[in-house]
Amino acid sequence: MLIWDAHTHLSGVTGDTPEERLRNILTFADRLGIERVCVSMGMTWTYDPSPEELRQQNDDVLRAVKHFPDRAFGFVYLSPNHVETSLAELDRCVRDGPMVGVKLWVAQRCNTPGLDPLVRRAVELKAVILQHTYLKATGNLPGESTPEDLAELARRHPEATFICGHTGGNPELGVRAIRGCKNIYADLCGSDPLAGMTELAVRELGAERVLYGSDAGGRSFASQLAKVFGANIPESARKLILGENLKHLLTPILKAKGMKV
Ligand SMILES: [Zn+2]
Repeated sequence: MLIWDAHTHLSGVTGDTPEERLRNILTFADRLGIERVCVSMGMTWTYDPSPEELRQQNDDVLRAVKHFPDRAFGFVYLSPNHVETSLAELDRCVRDGPMVGVKLWVAQRCNTPGLDPLVRRAVELKAVILQHTYLKATGNLPGESTPEDLAELARRHPEATFICGHTGGNPELGVRAIRGCKNIYADLCGSDPLAGMTELAVRELGAERVLYGSDAGGRSFASQLAKVFGANIPESARKLILGENLKHLLTPILKAKGMKV
């Protein structure tokens, strides 16, 4: 079965360099039959990265994926607080480099108009956008997006493709928030493996809009894969979620870049 992971980071594993960390992630991935991983930032974590920090994080990923071009897809880390830098990073890492997606974290909530030029440029480059979302019982960080925030952004950009990172960490509310936006895909990673969550996402969104991701090294591959392998869904749905959907999302940019699909 084809398994592609939509969401990993250069954190939570040992290794002094980005490529050592990615090598370790792939060692674990090999044990579980995961063929490819999408990877973004994580050597350090900064809520509101400076332009220099954004460039450094992207340099780390460029350096790491260079060692594993057939296994890892780089996602460029951007921030709506630094639009000019982010546009330049999109060109440097996606247009002129090997990266195929965008990663947005918690610098600012994603319904901000500051993201519009970045989303438009990502669409031109056929890059998918992975936006972290959460619904925390203890309250979100000031710049931390909810699935509702992402739905707002997605309605302004129907031509863009978004991945709802963690689906808010709350499948009932997260899935409901994005259900009406056909250009948002639900990412199963990062929350506890609750019984029924994958079944719920498949029932409400259709299996075509659900993606397996792990958030490794912050979460284990095994606990996140179990959400899909343990789900009471048809085998055809399991195949879509584990790899086929992500492959379908990335195929346009991989083809445009002449990369192996
Ligand atoms: Zn993430």
